[in-house]
Amino acid sequence: GVLGSGDFARSLAVRLVCSGFKVVVGSRNPKRKASLFPAAAEVTFQAEAVKKADVIFVAIFREHYSTLCDLADVLVGKILVDVSNNTEINHHKESNAEYLASLFPACTVVKGFNVISAWTLQSGARDGNKQVLICSNNQEAKRTVAEIAQVMGFTPVDMGCMSSACEIENIPLRLLPAWKIPIFLALGLFLCFFTYNLIRQVIHPYIREQKNKLYKIPIEVVNTTLPCVSYVMLSLVYLPGVLAACSQLYYGTKYRRFPDWLDQWLQHRKQIGLLSFFCAALHAVYSLCLPMRRSHRYLLIETAVKQAVEKKMAIWVEEEVWRMEIYISVGIIALGLLSLLAITSLPSIANSLNWREFSFIQ
Ligand code: NAP
Repeated sequence: GVLGSGDFARSLAVRLVCSGFKVVVGSRNPKRKASLFPAAAEVTFQAEAVKKADVIFVAIFREHYSTLCDLADVLVGKILVDVSNNTEINHHKESNAEYLASLFPACTVVKGFNVISAWTLQSGARDGNKQVLICSNNQEAKRTVAEIAQVMGFTPVDMGCMSSACEIENIPLRLLPAWKIPIFLALGLFLCFFTYNLIRQVIHPYIREQKNKLYKIPIEVVNTTLPCVSYVMLSLVYLPGVLAACSQLYYGTKYRRFPDWLDQWLQHRKQIGLLSFFCAALHAVYSLCLPMRRSHRYLLIETAVKQAVEKKMAIWVEEEVWRMEIYISVGIIALGLLSLLAITSLPSIANSLNWREFSFIQ
């Protein structure tokens, strides 16, 4: 059974029908909504639908739960699946699922499916997130909903009892929690190195020789800043491991908790490493674009004209040529190796490696 006829209810009904379930939809206005559902799904009034189903997905917003109170008698003994989300983290004192359970004490409430979007439901479990997090105080009801999720092609994850509902409801609202510190760190480093390079490449030549080098800011200054950030970030990936080893040696045991700051640092190594790779990749693209700039062409022509006027023929400096060849070659190899580290940090690749292979690559 599905209560509601919105986006989520429709996608859920389609997926349930495709997975071989008999579906009955409860709407306040079944006549108007019936055409939106697959023909195999029965669309009827809420009370009628509830009577026909044992497991009922409540696909309506928390604010409207109280309008279901008229159905309390017919809902006795049923399993209610709360699929709702909030608009803010910890918006209400109690989770939506606990609130639903308090309104219908004669029902068994299971929290689940809220981390799956209507789009994922409709496009099937092949695309998008496959995990369905489930929690309930009733093991039997939880198992029933987990089985339904499995038949629909999702992977049910048991999150324990109803007190986990709040955590499950917060998941879709989180914005890259593990990335906040690494991103601020990268931005901070970028700002420091950018200021340093700006002084060196633009402000200093202006003060010393009155040369206007402002045109260097968007590409050249940024391009010299990016590898600095990348190198420092990369060293910050490996430094906490060394500090942790030193701390273990110092205390003569590995059964002592690291200080909180070191613990946090160790946990963010993957994100710091990926940001280091991101800066290095940007540096590669910026470097490839250097010869495309007008300023580069003008300077090249200016040098050529100067040499023609001075009737200089030999412009080939063997040492400079070798310097540049080796410099670029080493840069490309470094980027290749960093790409390897970045790729092996992806869960799908990391999971296919054993611990020895992973540390060998690191
Ligand atoms: P929606 O399109 O606005 O649909 C809500 C439905 O609630 C309406 O179609 C309406 O169906 C029903 N309803 C029942 N009583 C109501 C009342 N008193 N006032 C207004 N509507 C009432 O919303 P939705 O996107 O399907 O979301 C439904 C639930 O699924 C929400 O709790 C949401 O957090 C959750 N969810 C949605 C998504 C998503 O991708 N959309 C993802 C995860 C979770 P009738 O008019 O037929 O009664």
